[in-house]
Amino acid sequence: MLIDTHVHLNDSKYKLEQEEIIKKALLGNISYLIDIGSNLTSSKASIDLSCKYQNVYSAVGIHPHEAKTFNGKSIDSLKDLSKNKKVVAIGEIGLDYHYNFSTPTEQKKAFIEQIKLASSLNLPLIIHAREATKDILHILEQHGLSLKGVFHAFSGDKEILNWAISNQYYISISGMVTFKNSNLSSLVKEIPMDKFLIETDSPYLAPHPMRGKKNQPAYLTFIAKKLAEVMHLSLEDISRITTLNAKQLFNLEPVVLKDTYTYKIRNSLYVNLTNRCTNNCYFCIRNKTYFIKGHYLKLEKEPTVENIISEIGEVENYKEIVFCGLGEPFLRYNTLIKIAKYLKNRGAKIRINTNGQANLICSKNIAIELKGTVDALSISLNASTSDTYQKISQCSNHSAFEAIIGFVKECKKYIPEITLTFLELPTINIEECKKLAQNLRVEFKIRKYDVVG
Ligand code: SF4
Repeated sequence: MLIDTHVHLNDSKYKLEQEEIIKKALLGNISYLIDIGSNLTSSKASIDLSCKYQNVYSAVGIHPHEAKTFNGKSIDSLKDLSKNKKVVAIGEIGLDYHYNFSTPTEQKKAFIEQIKLASSLNLPLIIHAREATKDILHILEQHGLSLKGVFHAFSGDKEILNWAISNQYYISISGMVTFKNSNLSSLVKEIPMDKFLIETDSPYLAPHPMRGKKNQPAYLTFIAKKLAEVMHLSLEDISRITTLNAKQLFNLEPVVLKDTYTYKIRNSLYVNLTNRCTNNCYFCIRNKTYFIKGHYLKLEKEPTVENIISEIGEVENYKEIVFCGLGEPFLRYNTLIKIAKYLKNRGAKIRINTNGQANLICSKNIAIELKGTVDALSISLNASTSDTYQKISQCSNHSAFEAIIGFVKECKKYIPEITLTFLELPTINIEECKKLAQNLRVEFKIRKYDVVG
């Protein structure tokens, strides 16, 4: 299911079609709609609508085009409207110097006052930014740093993207990403997984192949499919990730946090055996979040062999089964090998993502025990020397680097695919790392910082 985070159901283009449009969306793949106000009238109309439909929420605000109507009473009126429990954001607000339907001075005043209102109500902002990047970011730096928000219908401004990534702001992708002349495809790959939303901006910006027609929330699937293609994910992944992000930003419903033992990304199934690790890498994603591509991986209780096997079902449904999670899987070696053998007997391809310290952890050479069961090992090394490894991993065992290299050499005898992976970090000499992998005659892969799964 998808959440359309930006629709204008009260736009005059819809006239009497509102009900039909909402029904079509809900019958399709859309679980919630956020209807956006542009002035006091449409904000009020949005609340009337969201009170009628359980799956519709509202944002109230005065659009930069309408900033000339902003007066001394506007904030009190918006404040009153925001008391309704279906109001989840202040928007759409911002600056638009393309049309200048209101003067920049009027726009800035309305924008700042509405940011202050959002701050007092602890609501996120929905921001319209067009040809006004410098002023938008300046105002947000001064008044919006403690808030959350989203830049709606992102059109590819790198400065906005970088600012959003460094702050608590999201980027919302509209049908523009599907346009043939759009440069958004390359940029969206830079948006962190926990920072992007999708929207139709209906009735505007209809995605390909509906471009030129009147847009509607049911077309959100075209945008989600394009994003899946660009981000090398499945439609299911995009739905899960963007739904979680929207629920978190707009506080639509509580996110259920429960132990996840197995989880799907693309057409691979991942096994989450432990959160423990022998390293304490400064860049470890666990220091930031336990959500990976929309899955919550913090474990209250580590799973048993039976827990995992009962969840997996038919292995032919998956390209491969990957022991990964947020921790070092070889810390659960006995459990891991039992599950892996069971799955291998049923024809699964098995990969283990590891820090390569298996022999240290097990206090013996286990490489031969993986023979015939494990098809691929992906070893996160991130350094070409012991000194660097020690600095970044903060492993308590100072021979860890040498032990990993020894493990690689042993595993080469028994495991068909071995890849050494390295994070793209300024402290890491990638050329030296590449040479190391070449000398060991194993595959070499660079991974992007903060991208897991
Ligand atoms: S090896 Fe992986 S799981 Fe362990 S601390 Fe480092 S980044 Fe985190």
